[in-house]
Amino acid sequence: MIIDVHGHYTTAPAALGAWRDLQIASLKDPSKAPKPSDLKISDDELRESIETNQLAKMRERGSDLTVFSPRASFMAHHIGDFQTSATWAAICNELCFRVSQLYPRHFIGAAMLPQSPGVDAATCIPELERCVKDYGFVGVNLNPDPSGGHWTSPPLTDRYWYPLYEKMAELEIPAMIHVSTSCNPCFHTTGAHYLNADTTAFMQCLTGDLFKDFPSLKLLIPHGGGAVPYHWGRFRGLAQELNKPLLDEHLLNNIFFDTCVYHQPGIDLLTKVIPVKNVLFASEMIGAVRGVDPQTGHYYDDTRRYIDGTANLTEEERFLVYEGNARRVFPRLDAALKAQGR
Ligand SMILES: [Zn+2]
Repeated sequence: MIIDVHGHYTTAPAALGAWRDLQIASLKDPSKAPKPSDLKISDDELRESIETNQLAKMRERGSDLTVFSPRASFMAHHIGDFQTSATWAAICNELCFRVSQLYPRHFIGAAMLPQSPGVDAATCIPELERCVKDYGFVGVNLNPDPSGGHWTSPPLTDRYWYPLYEKMAELEIPAMIHVSTSCNPCFHTTGAHYLNADTTAFMQCLTGDLFKDFPSLKLLIPHGGGAVPYHWGRFRGLAQELNKPLLDEHLLNNIFFDTCVYHQPGIDLLTKVIPVKNVLFASEMIGAVRGVDPQTGHYYDDTRRYIDGTANLTEEERFLVYEGNARRVFPRLDAALKAQGR
């Protein structure tokens, strides 16, 4: 099987964005507040948006199943307060659940959390539990910077986040560390803020001892780990200066990287530097980079070509990247597949 662990519903029907616009407008004028029930999207509209986009590409490229979460840049946790985020997260998660019901062999959900800057992380637990228990979701996206580029939250190793980690450990749910849109003009959302956050999350974990407290916690760092694999020597050296154990032991039982790196040399480096057991296939298709690479004639986000094309992996290792590692890191995904006889 080919499991893509990083997909977002970037192609949701336009009514979703229109509802969100009304919600944002109502922050200034509460009389305009839309009700969740005002949003009407039919199953046919969902099918249309999926079959002409993600599912068409999955068939073309030969991937079988996508771990599917709400559009990351739309999470925008900095907007409004906890209630704003709670209503918005519930709507977005429900749409991903409906897609997973329409195409149970091709999509399975990962939750967006109703985070809000400065609000107790424990407030996100009910939505997480609902998504896992009622919707069968197998993962969650955790935003380390709900302020949207101003980094006002404590680092991921801080006890502020512990209630969520406790719940994740209990539910056997890994988190993808995923920021949302940047409202800081210094940081382009997908070109800078995303990659900065990936690198920052890794370094926060390096300086702390989070996995001593949560030995089973699993964090997936997307976009190939930001700058981490390229600067592996720097991180190894910093860990040494901080008297931390070797990175294999200190972080690599708990931290994983996806393959959302959009050229062959990048995947060659990732698979050479990072142990194969820590690399999970993903494309984040129809996401940040939607064009065709004129050098290859293929879509940048057609990442399967780079995994197939690298000389660094044996067939057995390719199996781990495509399927084996995903089943290990997402135990609920493995259980759901087994229940389908896969
Ligand atoms: Zn993403």
